[in-house]
Amino acid sequence: MVGVQSKPAKASRFSRPEIRHMEMLLREGKDLSDPNFHQKLADEFNRAPGRVESKTIQMEQVQRWFLNRLKFHKTEDATSRSSSKEVSPDGEESLTINAVHSSNLPEEDGEKVTEEVEMEFEARSSRDMAWYDVSTFLAHRILSSGEVEVRVRFDGFGPEEDEWINVRKGVRERSIPMESSECWKIKEGDIVLCFREKDEAANYFDAHVIQVERKMHDIRGCRCIYLVRYDHDQTEERVHLSRLCRRP
Ligand SMILES: [Zn+2]
Repeated sequence: MVGVQSKPAKASRFSRPEIRHMEMLLREGKDLSDPNFHQKLADEFNRAPGRVESKTIQMEQVQRWFLNRLKFHKTEDATSRSSSKEVSPDGEESLTINAVHSSNLPEEDGEKVTEEVEMEFEARSSRDMAWYDVSTFLAHRILSSGEVEVRVRFDGFGPEEDEWINVRKGVRERSIPMESSECWKIKEGDIVLCFREKDEAANYFDAHVIQVERKMHDIRGCRCIYLVRYDHDQTEERVHLSRLCRRP
Protein backbone atom coordinates (compact mmCIF):
# COMPACT_ATOMS: atom_id res chain seq x y z
CA MET A 1 0.00 0.00 0.00
CA VAL A 2 2.85 2.36 0.66
CA GLY A 3 3.62 4.06 -2.63
CA VAL A 4 7.35 3.72 -2.64
CA GLN A 5 7.64 5.07 -6.17
CA SER A 6 5.63 8.17 -5.45
CA LYS A 7 7.55 9.01 -2.35
CA PRO A 8 9.52 12.23 -2.72
CA ALA A 9 13.23 11.80 -3.05
CA LYS A 10 14.08 12.49 0.55
CA ALA A 11 17.21 11.76 2.42
CA SER A 12 17.06 8.34 4.02
CA ARG A 13 16.36 8.02 7.66
CA PHE A 14 18.48 6.02 10.00
CA SER A 15 17.02 2.76 11.09
CA ARG A 16 16.85 2.00 14.78
CA PRO A 17 19.67 -0.55 14.65
CA GLU A 18 21.83 2.11 13.00
CA ILE A 19 20.92 4.62 15.66
CA ARG A 20 21.61 2.08 18.37
CA HIS A 21 24.96 1.38 16.77
CA MET A 22 25.84 5.07 16.77
CA GLU A 23 24.70 5.43 20.37
CA MET A 24 26.91 2.52 21.27
CA LEU A 25 29.90 4.19 19.60
CA LEU A 26 29.17 7.32 21.62
CA ARG A 27 28.92 5.33 24.84
CA GLU A 28 32.22 3.67 24.11
CA GLY A 29 33.80 7.10 23.75
CA LYS A 30 34.71 6.49 20.11
CA ASP A 31 37.27 8.96 18.81
CA LEU A 32 35.26 11.19 16.51
CA SER A 33 38.23 13.25 15.40
CA ASP A 34 39.22 10.67 12.79
CA PRO A 35 38.52 12.60 9.58
CA ASN A 36 37.20 9.46 7.89
CA PHE A 37 35.03 8.31 10.77
CA HIS A 38 31.68 9.57 9.46
CA GLN A 39 32.34 8.43 5.91
CA LYS A 40 33.36 4.97 7.08
CA LEU A 41 30.25 4.63 9.15
CA ALA A 42 28.03 5.82 6.30
CA ASP A 43 29.69 3.27 4.01
CA GLU A 44 29.14 0.57 6.59
CA PHE A 45 25.43 1.38 6.84
CA ASN A 46 25.04 1.47 3.08
CA ARG A 47 26.64 -1.93 2.62
CA ALA A 48 24.13 -3.55 4.98
CA PRO A 49 21.22 -5.50 3.54
CA GLY A 50 18.06 -3.45 3.40
CA ARG A 51 19.78 -0.40 2.01
CA VAL A 52 19.96 0.13 -1.70
CA GLU A 53 21.47 2.88 -3.75
CA SER A 54 18.47 5.15 -3.82
CA LYS A 55 18.29 5.04 -0.04
CA THR A 56 21.87 5.62 0.89
CA ILE A 57 22.94 7.38 4.04
CA GLN A 58 25.09 10.42 3.36
CA MET A 59 28.27 11.10 5.27
CA GLU A 60 26.82 14.51 6.21
CA GLN A 61 23.83 12.82 7.88
CA VAL A 62 26.11 10.77 10.08
CA GLN A 63 28.14 13.86 10.89
CA ARG A 64 25.02 15.83 11.76
CA TRP A 65 23.64 13.03 13.93
CA PHE A 66 26.77 13.05 16.07
CA LEU A 67 26.93 16.85 16.20
CA ASN A 68 23.30 17.08 17.28
CA ARG A 69 23.68 14.34 19.81
CA LEU A 70 26.77 15.85 21.36
CA LYS A 71 25.21 19.30 21.37
CA PHE A 72 22.05 18.00 23.06
CA HIS A 73 24.13 16.12 25.55
CA LYS A 74 26.07 19.23 26.47
CA THR A 75 22.86 21.18 26.90
CA GLU A 76 21.58 18.44 29.14
CA ASP A 77 24.66 18.62 31.30
CA ALA A 78 24.31 22.34 31.64
CA THR A 79 20.94 22.03 33.25
CA SER A 80 19.62 20.38 36.33
CA ARG A 81 18.17 17.68 34.10
CA SER A 82 21.55 16.00 34.02
CA SER A 83 20.62 14.53 37.37
CA SER A 84 17.77 12.64 35.82
CA LYS A 85 19.79 10.27 33.68
CA GLU A 86 18.00 7.25 32.43
CA VAL A 87 18.98 3.66 32.64
CA SER A 88 18.35 1.84 29.42
CA PRO A 89 16.78 -1.63 29.38
CA ASP A 90 20.16 -3.29 29.14
CA GLY A 91 21.22 -1.64 32.35
CA GLU A 92 23.67 0.75 30.81
CA GLU A 93 23.41 4.44 31.35
CA SER A 94 21.77 5.74 28.28
CA LEU A 95 22.83 8.73 26.26
CA THR A 96 19.39 8.85 24.79
CA ILE A 97 17.94 12.25 25.20
CA ASN A 98 14.54 12.41 26.73
CA ALA A 99 12.52 13.91 23.98
CA VAL A 100 10.54 16.37 25.95
CA HIS A 101 8.94 17.07 29.25
CA SER A 102 5.47 15.78 28.78
CA SER A 103 4.23 19.08 30.14
CA ASN A 104 5.22 20.50 26.75
CA LEU A 105 2.58 18.36 25.13
CA PRO A 106 -0.80 19.90 24.64
CA GLU A 107 -3.47 18.76 26.98
CA GLU A 108 -6.08 16.57 25.43
CA ASP A 109 -9.68 16.36 26.49
CA GLY A 110 -8.93 18.56 29.44
CA GLU A 111 -6.81 15.84 30.89
CA LYS A 112 -4.04 17.35 32.90
CA VAL A 113 -0.65 16.01 31.98
CA THR A 114 1.54 15.36 34.96
CA GLU A 115 4.45 17.72 35.07
CA GLU A 116 8.09 16.72 35.16
CA VAL A 117 7.43 13.17 34.06
CA GLU A 118 10.05 12.46 31.46
CA MET A 119 8.98 10.24 28.62
CA GLU A 120 10.39 9.30 25.28
CA PHE A 121 8.12 9.32 22.29
CA GLU A 122 7.86 7.80 18.87
CA ALA A 123 5.85 9.22 16.00
CA ARG A 124 4.45 7.72 12.83
CA SER A 125 5.57 9.35 9.63
CA SER A 126 2.81 9.87 7.10
CA ARG A 127 5.37 9.35 4.35
CA ASP A 128 5.83 5.64 4.98
CA MET A 129 3.62 4.80 7.99
CA ALA A 130 6.72 3.73 9.93
CA TRP A 131 7.41 4.79 13.51
CA TYR A 132 10.50 6.82 14.35
CA ASP A 133 11.88 8.09 17.60
CA VAL A 134 11.07 11.69 18.39
CA SER A 135 13.93 14.02 19.18
CA THR A 136 11.93 17.18 19.85
CA PHE A 137 8.44 18.58 19.62
CA LEU A 138 8.93 21.91 17.93
CA ALA A 139 5.42 23.34 17.96
CA HIS A 140 1.80 22.41 18.11
CA ARG A 141 -1.39 23.55 16.39
CA ILE A 142 -5.07 22.88 16.78
CA LEU A 143 -7.05 22.16 13.64
CA SER A 144 -10.60 23.39 13.10
CA SER A 145 -11.73 19.83 13.81
CA GLY A 146 -10.28 20.16 17.28
CA GLU A 147 -7.52 17.65 16.54
CA VAL A 148 -4.08 18.55 17.80
CA GLU A 149 -0.99 18.21 15.66
CA VAL A 150 2.62 18.54 16.70
CA ARG A 151 5.62 19.46 14.62
CA VAL A 152 8.09 16.64 15.12
CA ARG A 153 11.85 16.55 14.71
CA PHE A 154 12.81 12.92 14.26
CA ASP A 155 15.77 11.60 16.16
CA GLY A 156 18.79 11.49 13.88
CA PHE A 157 17.23 13.65 11.18
CA GLY A 158 17.39 17.27 10.19
CA PRO A 159 14.74 19.95 9.73
CA GLU A 160 13.99 18.85 6.16
CA GLU A 161 12.40 15.69 7.59
CA ASP A 162 10.17 17.48 10.13
CA GLU A 163 6.50 16.59 9.94
CA TRP A 164 3.17 17.70 11.37
CA ILE A 165 1.68 14.67 13.09
CA ASN A 166 -1.69 14.07 14.68
CA VAL A 167 -1.09 13.60 18.40
CA ARG A 168 -3.91 11.15 18.95
CA LYS A 169 -3.13 8.88 16.01
CA GLY A 170 0.56 9.27 15.43
CA VAL A 171 2.39 10.05 18.69
CA ARG A 172 2.89 7.66 21.57
CA GLU A 173 5.31 6.54 24.22
CA ARG A 174 8.34 4.83 22.72
CA SER A 175 8.14 1.06 22.23
CA ILE A 176 10.48 -1.11 24.25
CA PRO A 177 13.12 -3.36 22.63
CA MET A 178 12.95 -6.96 23.82
CA GLU A 179 15.55 -8.90 25.75
CA SER A 180 15.88 -12.66 25.22
CA SER A 181 14.73 -13.37 28.76
CA GLU A 182 11.49 -11.51 28.15
CA CYS A 183 10.31 -13.43 25.11
CA TRP A 184 7.44 -14.98 27.07
CA LYS A 185 5.92 -11.53 27.41
CA ILE A 186 4.88 -11.50 23.76
CA LYS A 187 1.76 -13.51 23.12
CA GLU A 188 -0.58 -14.20 20.27
CA GLY A 189 -2.81 -11.24 19.59
CA ASP A 190 -0.35 -8.68 20.95
CA ILE A 191 0.43 -5.52 19.06
CA VAL A 192 4.14 -5.09 18.54
CA LEU A 193 6.47 -2.79 16.70
CA CYS A 194 8.33 -4.91 14.17
CA PHE A 195 11.48 -4.08 12.23
CA ARG A 196 10.98 -4.90 8.59
CA GLU A 197 13.53 -4.89 5.81
CA LYS A 198 11.73 -4.83 2.52
CA ASP A 199 12.42 -3.34 -0.88
CA GLU A 200 14.20 -0.09 -0.29
CA ALA A 201 13.30 0.46 3.30
CA ALA A 202 14.19 -0.91 6.70
CA ASN A 203 11.77 0.46 9.21
CA TYR A 204 9.57 -0.18 12.21
CA PHE A 205 5.89 -0.88 11.65
CA ASP A 206 2.95 -1.86 13.82
CA ALA A 207 2.07 -5.53 13.58
CA HIS A 208 -0.09 -8.12 15.29
CA VAL A 209 1.34 -11.37 16.58
CA ILE A 210 -0.54 -14.20 14.87
CA GLN A 211 1.37 -17.18 16.19
CA VAL A 212 4.26 -17.92 18.53
CA GLU A 213 6.50 -20.96 18.18
CA ARG A 214 8.41 -21.38 21.43
CA LYS A 215 11.90 -22.82 20.96
CA MET A 216 14.74 -23.84 23.21
CA HIS A 217 17.01 -20.88 23.83
CA ASP A 218 20.69 -21.33 23.12
CA ILE A 219 23.85 -19.30 23.44
CA ARG A 220 22.46 -16.77 20.99
CA GLY A 221 19.46 -16.23 23.25
CA CYS A 222 15.84 -16.49 22.22
CA ARG A 223 15.22 -18.70 19.20
CA CYS A 224 11.43 -18.47 19.35
CA ILE A 225 9.68 -17.59 16.11
CA TYR A 226 6.89 -15.06 15.89
CA LEU A 227 4.50 -14.92 12.98
CA VAL A 228 3.40 -11.31 12.63
CA ARG A 229 0.98 -9.53 10.34
CA TYR A 230 1.78 -5.92 9.54
CA ASP A 231 -1.14 -3.59 10.15
CA HIS A 232 -0.52 -1.25 7.23
CA ASP A 233 -0.39 -3.81 4.41
CA GLN A 234 -1.53 -7.08 6.01
CA THR A 235 1.56 -8.96 4.92
CA GLU A 236 2.87 -11.69 7.20
CA GLU A 237 6.38 -12.58 8.21
CA ARG A 238 8.16 -14.93 10.61
CA VAL A 239 10.63 -13.05 12.75
CA HIS A 240 12.87 -13.50 15.74
CA LEU A 241 12.53 -11.57 18.96
CA SER A 242 15.35 -9.19 18.09
CA ARG A 243 13.12 -7.61 15.46
CA LEU A 244 10.34 -6.84 17.92
CA CYS A 245 9.62 -4.05 20.36
CA ARG A 246 6.70 -4.27 22.72
CA ARG A 247 4.26 -1.57 23.64
CA PRO A 248 4.74 -0.14 27.14
ZN1 LIG B 1 12.21 -17.22 23.33
